[in-house]
Amino acid sequence: MHRRAFLRFFSVGTAAAVSAQLFYRETFGNLDVAFEDTDIEARQIYNSIRLMKSKAPDSREFLQAFTSVGAVRESEQEVILSQTETPSRFSYLSKMRNYESPHEKDLYLPKAQYPVLISTFKRLSRVQQLVGHGNFNVLGFDEMQQIGRRYSAVGRFSRQENDFFESLFLANAKDYGFLGEKVTTDLTSLISRKNTKKIGKTGHFLYRGSSEALYKKLKADVGETITLTSGIRSVVKQTHLFIAKTIQSEGNLSKASRSLAPPGHSYHGVGDFDVGKVGYGSKNFTEAFSSTDEFKKLVDLGYVSIRYPRNNMLGVRYEPWHIKVV
Ligand SMILES: [Zn+2]
Repeated sequence: MHRRAFLRFFSVGTAAAVSAQLFYRETFGNLDVAFEDTDIEARQIYNSIRLMKSKAPDSREFLQAFTSVGAVRESEQEVILSQTETPSRFSYLSKMRNYESPHEKDLYLPKAQYPVLISTFKRLSRVQQLVGHGNFNVLGFDEMQQIGRRYSAVGRFSRQENDFFESLFLANAKDYGFLGEKVTTDLTSLISRKNTKKIGKTGHFLYRGSSEALYKKLKADVGETITLTSGIRSVVKQTHLFIAKTIQSEGNLSKASRSLAPPGHSYHGVGDFDVGKVGYGSKNFTEAFSSTDEFKKLVDLGYVSIRYPRNNMLGVRYEPWHIKVV
């Protein structure tokens, strides 16, 4: 990003936010960090971090395949499934129903990487605090680096943190058991601000064009009680969420990927979005959402297509709140 555009982006509002947030507490004092599309609470993360520092992990050999970025096409999924250790549809579906439990052949981050996992998470959390939750959703990798260099409240991303960040992006998600496609292949891709629209009161952005149009139509049809709960997410945002989920899963990357697409694999990067019932909080990201009148209306109106339906073969749990646009 050019310096001028960068400065415009971090304008008056940001300056105020920066001064208010300069005293970010190393103790993870702020517990109202939002983790969309997950049921993570900041307090759990904090507890998990303490646990990971004290407990030996249930670790296995892992992450050899960081160089491959091959995406899985739908036609390949059956083949891949037939080669996995849980080849039957029954055992696969049972694993996905129990997505929160550890399973045989789950892949874990090696314990040696726990410190960098946690320090990267904390630095990203400080970036989010500094730029604000809304801006963080669309923040690019290079912008993230600039913020680290520029603001001592964040601090420069270390070589190890950058390598770790990149390795998560380049990892072969199939190794986790995640079979969705890689939809963003450039780590440093920038989300052009002029192609996005900030949706009032939500703190989220949508791409202008089909995403914004579908959201408007959906809101007009369903009513004021439905709202956008997560829109565009940059690679930076998705990585922060995935790291949070990995910490919550105590290093189990497979478990993390069953409920959150690994970096580069989220359709939030290219147009999908999440909706929820106003005032329903984190329950919007649980199956409880599918019992709401809002969800029933979405289905009855018939134009909503869900990215991860029940019993999908993509290695992702049922997500009735996630609306497919692309
Ligand atoms: Zn989603």
